[in-house]
Amino acid sequence: MAAKKRTIRTIPRERTPMAEQPAAERARNFREVACGFTLAEALRESERCLLCPDEPCVRGCPVGIDIPGFIAKLGEKDIHGAFDVLSDTTLLPAICGRVCPQETQCEQVCTVGQTLEPVAIGRLERFVGDAAISESWSSVPFIEPAGFKVAIVGSGPAGMACAADMAKAGCQVTVFEAFQQPGGVLRYGIPEFRLPNEVVDAEIAKLVRLGITFRTNVLVGRLFTIEQLLTEMGFDAVFVGVGAGTPTFMDIPGEALARVVSANELLTRVNLMHARDFPSFDTPLGIGKKVAVIGAGNTAMDAMRVSLRLGAEKVMCVYRRSRDEAPARAEELHHAEDEGVQFHWLTNPIAILDDGSRGVGALRCQRMELGEPDASGRRRPVAIADSDFDLDCDTVVVAIGTDANPILGQTSGLALDDRGYLAVDADLATSIDGVFAGGDIVTGAATVIEAMGAGRRAARAMKRYLGLVDSDVPYDDGLGAAPFGLSGSGRDYVRVRAV
Ligand code: FAD
Ligand code: SF4
Repeated sequence: MAAKKRTIRTIPRERTPMAEQPAAERARNFREVACGFTLAEALRESERCLLCPDEPCVRGCPVGIDIPGFIAKLGEKDIHGAFDVLSDTTLLPAICGRVCPQETQCEQVCTVGQTLEPVAIGRLERFVGDAAISESWSSVPFIEPAGFKVAIVGSGPAGMACAADMAKAGCQVTVFEAFQQPGGVLRYGIPEFRLPNEVVDAEIAKLVRLGITFRTNVLVGRLFTIEQLLTEMGFDAVFVGVGAGTPTFMDIPGEALARVVSANELLTRVNLMHARDFPSFDTPLGIGKKVAVIGAGNTAMDAMRVSLRLGAEKVMCVYRRSRDEAPARAEELHHAEDEGVQFHWLTNPIAILDDGSRGVGALRCQRMELGEPDASGRRRPVAIADSDFDLDCDTVVVAIGTDANPILGQTSGLALDDRGYLAVDADLATSIDGVFAGGDIVTGAATVIEAMGAGRRAARAMKRYLGLVDSDVPYDDGLGAAPFGLSGSGRDYVRVRAV
């Protein structure tokens, strides 16, 4: 009998809640806040999907994941099948399921969302990604060596995605990373309570199983140049995914005082360099008890929530626009509010005041109101005359955005655009033959999924450049034969080189 068609009237009305650590408890520990779905919860939520034939959610996803396809498999309790559908497009479901801003992407255009709360697509993706990690489902395909050497500079989501696709195409891939551990912002920026390191470790382990070599503590542009990779070091192609990690400051008086730090520095010290375990680890932290964080994006939310967990008694968010314009993911903003961060909306810092001993004494601010929309489409904040006031604080964390690190521009012939980011064509090819680039170093600060998508797009172009053509041949030809002497079933593939 055919399954009954779902309609908005027949599906569970309420979005399935996900357990999380209580706010008062989690604000003082680094354990993951959101606990994930159980199987029963995931199955219930999958029933809310209408499996729309026109798939608006797929168009809302920056990499076009077959969302109804993976949810349908999940609904049939075929979790491995759901993982296979996800794996066709995404390398990092357990990560993107946790950190993607779904409310402005796939979930924003979900049909169910027009009447009820949208299907919790991100939570379902995380459920499948976590199952794949705990069951070690990363199938390593048969890889025919292609005879090419590929260098990846930077090990964030863009570099990881490009590395994986090039390794699957048979290339010998080496990833060069400036920090002591791979993962990019996933490791040094996003804190453990949002994205546990063990999830990042599991994704890196998959890449190692594909035969990819990681060389950490290697700052390209200082130890050797991009051009040397292609000449003396014998690489046939290079992908540059170095992110945009150089913090910007406000250029207001007092920014040179002690206890004024960038959010990137604070987060890197805590996440990568174990500053929260000082003095057991060598990195000191240097923040006080009353912390003002300037900005309202994901980085600012992370800096505030980390400060709480480090023992700050008062943590304040200072943002010149209103809550509606805050660029952070909705969930992070809610979590920060629940955990006790004080928000000062429509508040613009104009000076950091000295406490008399070259430390922070207060943050001088002025009140703002919203005027006409600016080029970004958001209403422009306008200062209110004679509205200055001082916020009592002993630490200021600046989280107003980042820029490209200039090192590769200064040490190679790579052309830059007028903002100082790497210039690329539609295929993500740079001005140097054989060098491709993608992720934040091309677009400016964006998202994990967009960086991952760029890495995959660059890999496709790199394969064309090297003359590699992928031909996906299923192991199982349906005749009982085992092509290439291999046996197997399901959705595993052989890669064939056709130069
Ligand atoms: P990155 O992740 O920045 O990785 C670049 C890597 O290159 C780094 O490891 C760096 O050390 C290395 N590198 C740099 N220069 C060199 C060199 N010369 N030689 C060798 N290695 C080099 N996005 C979301 O979707 N959701 C979120 O919730 C979210 N939260 C965020 C929170 C924070 C604190 C930050 C900073 C960003 C957040 N983002 C979020 C944005 C997202 O993480 C980035 O858009 C994404 O990581 C960019 O990926 P990437 O691969 O281009 O660069
Ligand atoms: Fe399911 Fe929503 Fe996508 Fe429709 S739009 S297929 S209901 S997730």
